[in-house]
Amino acid sequence: MFQEDTIAAVATAVGEGGIGIVRLSGPDAIDIAGRIFRSASGAPVSGQQSFRAAYGRIVEPASGQEIDEVLLLVMRAPRSYTREDVVEIHCHGGPLPLRRILSLVLAAGARLAEPGEFTKRAFLNGRLDLSQAEAVIDVIRAKTDASLRVAVGHLAGAFSDKIRAFRNEILRLVAHLEAAIDFPEDDIEELAAHDVSMAADKLIADLDRLLATAQTGRILREGLQTVIIGKPNVGKSSLLNALLGEKRAIVTEIPGTTRDIIEEFVNIGGIPIKVVDTAGIRETADVVERIGVTRARAAICQADLILLLLDASAPLAHEDREVMGLLAGRPAIVIVNKTDLPAVIDLDEVHREVDDKAVIRISALEGTGVEELEQAIVEMVYSGRVSQPEGAFVNNVRHSRIIEQARDRLADALATIAAGMPPDCVVVDLRAAWEKLGEITGETIGEDIIDQIFTQFCIGK
Ligand code: GDP
Ligand code: ZN
Repeated sequence: MFQEDTIAAVATAVGEGGIGIVRLSGPDAIDIAGRIFRSASGAPVSGQQSFRAAYGRIVEPASGQEIDEVLLLVMRAPRSYTREDVVEIHCHGGPLPLRRILSLVLAAGARLAEPGEFTKRAFLNGRLDLSQAEAVIDVIRAKTDASLRVAVGHLAGAFSDKIRAFRNEILRLVAHLEAAIDFPEDDIEELAAHDVSMAADKLIADLDRLLATAQTGRILREGLQTVIIGKPNVGKSSLLNALLGEKRAIVTEIPGTTRDIIEEFVNIGGIPIKVVDTAGIRETADVVERIGVTRARAAICQADLILLLLDASAPLAHEDREVMGLLAGRPAIVIVNKTDLPAVIDLDEVHREVDDKAVIRISALEGTGVEELEQAIVEMVYSGRVSQPEGAFVNNVRHSRIIEQARDRLADALATIAAGMPPDCVVVDLRAAWEKLGEITGETIGEDIIDQIFTQFCIGK
């Protein structure tokens, strides 16, 4: 399994920084570092202890020219990120020293790492399973503390452990059926089939419960797509400003695409509220003003959350009623703004029009009610869940699809049993579910999919 070549890349972000790191991994990592590093003490890299840093200089072997002053850290296999010999060269964090050191390392026999290749090696060498490796990206890109908590839980294996428990339970059922097959008596087979359908029923319910976390998981990972709608002058821009308040928008860059995308989020109770950019949300905010009620419908359909603003100081208008009618079955909060002015609006009518929706009274101008609104948004995302997210969240579309398919295979097993088919047919369905779930942890998955997952990483990870 272990790779024969040694890979190298700049592991820190590009641009200027206090420190930059060139990372090497592979069988020749220590050897290659030894060829370009001169320690201040004169001790050779080959004798350097694992997890010890040595101070010295990087020197071009041919000319003897000094490139930079560095710390060199050695982590010997198997106790390293990749389980291979890893060397980190900590140099000054400018583009030039990093580039020069990287090219020396490449000239000395390393190969430039592909995106995600360090983490891929960690996976191939069994240090991380696939879902943990995927969590590495989520940790790097986490937008809020809650997003980070989920990602770190996944990285620690909380999610994989859950999936493994499901797989073990399925294997137990297979073993149970196969034992029954060896008995010729019909009643033993029937008994086993009965046990298995009970257990499969429970498994399906458990998988459905896990799938139900996918919406929240996706929101924590990708942000909550929010639109603010309402008549002109109802206070949409003022509300946006109140939500932004003293909070600064969180900006994430998504590298690796042809044109790097920059996204902005507002952190509300740990939930990243997605703002394409400030100008963008102002535009979205004025969706009714700009495009009228018909097109507001499209914005309403695509959003994870709709904030409908009404004016407390005016009677309900025809278009207010029309937009309220569009909210049925959609995740929406109705906000009655301008409550600092004398009340004119008929609140009973508002409640009747939107029956189950939360109605929050605010003054965007004075900032009252904004906290209640934020609380309502948080409650909506966790849908009454009190506990904060830990490991057992589906936060990845790939995982969601796999769990759905595994659940369908279990449903097939139930149908096979109900149809009175022999146990070996049921075993086929159960094994299919077991294999499907293994794609999450990477135990049963093709190399093409593995490659596809790791190419989403940046170089040096
Ligand atoms: P938009 O057209 O929906 O974006 O509305 P704006 O946010 O631009 O606000 C329109 C007008 O209403 C501005 O003059 C605001 O100062 C005012 N306004 C917004 N919110 C409130 C509020 O809570 N109370 C009062 N009294 N005026 C408000
Ligand atoms: Zn506006």
